Amino acid sequence: MSLNLASLLHAAALPDSDSPRLDAELLLAHALNKPRSFLMTWPEHQPQPEQIERFQHLLQRRRAGEPVAYLLGRRGFWSLDLEVDSSTLIPRPDTERLVEVALERVVKHPARVLDLGTGTGAVALALAVERPAWEVTGCDSAAPAVALAERNRQRLGIGNATFVLSDWFAGLAQGKAFDLIVSNPPYIAENDPHLVEGDVRFEPATALVSGPDGLDDIRHIAQAAPDHLQPDGWLLLEHGWEQADAVRDLLAARGFAEVQSWQDLAGHQRISGGRWHG
Ligand code: GLN
Repeated sequence: MSLNLASLLHAAALPDSDSPRLDAELLLAHALNKPRSFLMTWPEHQPQPEQIERFQHLLQRRRAGEPVAYLLGRRGFWSLDLEVDSSTLIPRPDTERLVEVALERVVKHPARVLDLGTGTGAVALALAVERPAWEVTGCDSAAPAVALAERNRQRLGIGNATFVLSDWFAGLAQGKAFDLIVSNPPYIAENDPHLVEGDVRFEPATALVSGPDGLDDIRHIAQAAPDHLQPDGWLLLEHGWEQADAVRDLLAARGFAEVQSWQDLAGHQRISGGRWHG
């Protein structure tokens, strides 16, 4: 029997996925090297045997839990199509809120912006593309992430972003102060049961986990950020959905002003920040 696209999709069982049909379509389109619309337009199309084999192999990996974004090597974030790989966190839709809040809060043009723990470069590149007059630096402590972010920058042709290897602030040029510091740092508690479920099993622990209460890195960033902020500069942090009170307390205790939180797409307080009056 010859297999066409409709029958291949029909037979592609992905029982543990939240979106089995969508996942199968994305993987089949990827195996064919075609856009997803091709599947709807040509349901009778009969792929080559090696394309079918590629699809079956992708399905197998997906059934074993590998995130779709890693299988495709791509993830959309903001207006950008980003290359992703297992050296970094997969960009999440909730993190687009961090971009929105930053764009609302900081009206300065030009401005100097720092994205701490940039990973794929998602937040830094989204801000750079929205504000061509901003000068955006993204840093990461993982060399493969810095290289990945730089590849994304080049492929997207974004000229006002730079990526550097730095463990938080430690490797940044001395004396450079920013108008805005953003970060989506690791914030999951070491023993959080979610770490053994779903996509996070395949993501690097260094991008996810931060000590017993998940707040080790946020504490470090809140403590160190004022030395790198211009007067009236903003620090904006993504955090876990139950951490907003703790993060606001940390920021207020460090002397930040205008400390507040913003909700994510599900209505949880997911971003908190404050302003450094200097
Ligand atoms: N939001 C991610 C999750 O809960 C975690 C991202 C992070 O630690 N920065 O899966």
